[in-house]
Amino acid sequence: MSVLQSRLADLIAAQGPLSVAQFMALALLDPEEGYYASRDPFGTSGDFITAPEISQMFGELLGVWAAQAWQEQGAPARARLVELGPGRGTLMADALRAIRQVAPGFLQAIEVVLIEASDKLARIQRRTLADFTEVPIRWRPSFDDSLTDRPLFVLANEFFDALPIRQFIAHDGHWHERMVGLMGGGHLGFARAPMTAKGLFVPAERGRPEDGAVFEICPAGLALAEHLGAVIEARGGAALVVDYGYGAGVTFGDTLQAVHQHAYAPVLERIGEADLSAHVDFLALAGAARRGGASVYGPIGQGVFLDRIGLQQRAARLALINPDVAASIGDEAERLRAPKAMGELFKVLALTPSIAPKPAGF
Ligand code: SAH
Repeated sequence: MSVLQSRLADLIAAQGPLSVAQFMALALLDPEEGYYASRDPFGTSGDFITAPEISQMFGELLGVWAAQAWQEQGAPARARLVELGPGRGTLMADALRAIRQVAPGFLQAIEVVLIEASDKLARIQRRTLADFTEVPIRWRPSFDDSLTDRPLFVLANEFFDALPIRQFIAHDGHWHERMVGLMGGGHLGFARAPMTAKGLFVPAERGRPEDGAVFEICPAGLALAEHLGAVIEARGGAALVVDYGYGAGVTFGDTLQAVHQHAYAPVLERIGEADLSAHVDFLALAGAARRGGASVYGPIGQGVFLDRIGLQQRAARLALINPDVAASIGDEAERLRAPKAMGELFKVLALTPSIAPKPAGF
């Protein structure tokens, strides 16, 4: 049993079951034993691989996308480029390198801010970005009010899937919150809260829930999307949210998953040692951003989006410069864009001010 598991068992014994969101927050972000706080999860030696770790083209294209949005909004002299959950800092390094080449004016206008809850990952990001001395870079543990006074350009890849979700289970015509409680032998288990969840809004499009159906909400993600929508509408800017998740046409389902060394693992075991994430509800996120005031585009598939903003041209160009690795550059592009790889499960949502033109790729 992990240290964190026995600590959670003690906590539940003392104060009762945790919501799935409380469990997820502690498992991921506990400052000592939390998954993101205690390890570097990325790459072949880690637990999973993300798009920027697959290919430099991903961050380059997203950086150029942000620079283009900045240009289309009149190239404001002072702006901010924010990344949510930067992992190893690879995406931002690739983005800044591309911006340096194609839009040096954007680099001169921006302050870069990395939103990172894990000190360990922030240290790795600092190393990755050490070469970019010409641009001010700072770190914040969460998106806060120090980031609301300038045009705001935001990139987020596989960030929203890490934010804690609450789950509700349908039972006899009512929704009950799904909780994490204590079973025998200090093991944790799921249980249905005895009281019903009053005031829970479940979109009618989801259809009629059968007994046992699971409905998920991500309160932290929705609050953040609404805040970003409000700042972007008021100050200008744009946000690009890339993640795996669902759009229209879904019903119900439990999407909470644990991944350890590139394989699915039981959610309530190896706590703090396995990554936990949940599919992103893109329609809910879009609705929250619209409530904030922004215009929302998408979600569309990552493959279509990357094709439209020039993935294949970039791959061809890189292959020309590096003929030795031309084949692997082509493979990487296919991993990012092919429907059977990441191209359809991963989706892209964009936020802009309501007066701005439609952003590239949509
Ligand atoms: N964007 C990166 C990493 C994705 S993993 C990539 O594509 O490779 C999720 C990242 O979000 C990690 O850096 C993790 O430490 C960070 N993170 C997770 N939850 C967070 C939270 N609530 N606040 C700030 N950062 C968080």
